[in-house]
Amino acid sequence: MSGQVDRTGLIAGVVALAAAVGMVVAVPSLLPSGLRDVVGLGPERFADAPDPSGTGPYAFLATQAGDPDVPVGYDPCQRIPLRVNLAGAPPGSLELVMRAIAIVEGATGLRFDYRGQTGARPRWEGETVPVILGQPKASPVLVSWATADEVDALAGRVAGVGGSVAVPDGGGIERYVTGGITLDSEAFAEIDATDDGRADQLAILLHEFGHLVGLDHVDDRGELMNAVSAGRTSYGPGDLRGLAAVGSIDCG
Ligand SMILES: [Zn+2]
Repeated sequence: MSGQVDRTGLIAGVVALAAAVGMVVAVPSLLPSGLRDVVGLGPERFADAPDPSGTGPYAFLATQAGDPDVPVGYDPCQRIPLRVNLAGAPPGSLELVMRAIAIVEGATGLRFDYRGQTGARPRWEGETVPVILGQPKASPVLVSWATADEVDALAGRVAGVGGSVAVPDGGGIERYVTGGITLDSEAFAEIDATDDGRADQLAILLHEFGHLVGLDHVDDRGELMNAVSAGRTSYGPGDLRGLAAVGSIDCG
C-alpha cells in the first residue's frame, strides 16, 4: 500500500549545480571552432525536439551568461555516454532506467549511449572533468544507488539527486559534459514494496533525469519537476516544454 510511504519531500533534493561547476577546471578549446562546418561535415541533430502543445512552468538550472533564455545543456548532436551501477538497486532497475532514457530521448531529441554496467561509485563532492588538449574528456554519466552514509545529499526524505557539470566550449558556450543520478537505495527498497512502486520509482528517475539534462524545480504540483512529489508519475506539460527547450540548443 502506497500509504506506508510518505513521499512528501522525497525528491526535494538536487545537488546544487554551482557546487559541482565550481570544482571544474576547464581551459578554452585549443582547436578552432566550426572546423567541421568548414569541411562540410557540420554536426547533425539526432532528432528535433518535439513541439509540446501544452502550457505550464519550467525552469533551467543554468543559462548562458548574458542570455537568460538559452539554457546550459548537452550538445544535441553528441550522444551522451551513460553507465549504470545496479549495486543497491531493486530488481528490474536496469529496465526502469532504460524506460526513463527512452522517455527523456523522446521529449528532448537528445540521445544517450548506454555503455553497460559499472562498479563506479558516485562522487558528488568531488566531481572533476579531466581536460586533455583543451577538449573535456569526461567520464560517462553515472546512474547509481547509494545511501546517505555515502552521499550526504540523500539524507532525510530525499529519494534521489541529479545534475550535470558544465564546461565552456571554444566559443564560450557552457555545455554539460557529464553528470550523475544517484537514487536512495533505502527509499527505493521501501517504494518497491508498495503497489505503485514501479511507477513511483520511474517518476523519481524521470525527475532526476530532468535535472541531469538541465531542468530546475518549479513550484507547480502539476509538474514532475515540482520539488516535492505530488503524485505525478509522468512529465507534465511544463516539464515537456522545458525538456524540448534543453534539447533545442545549438550543436557544438
Ligand atoms: Zn529535484
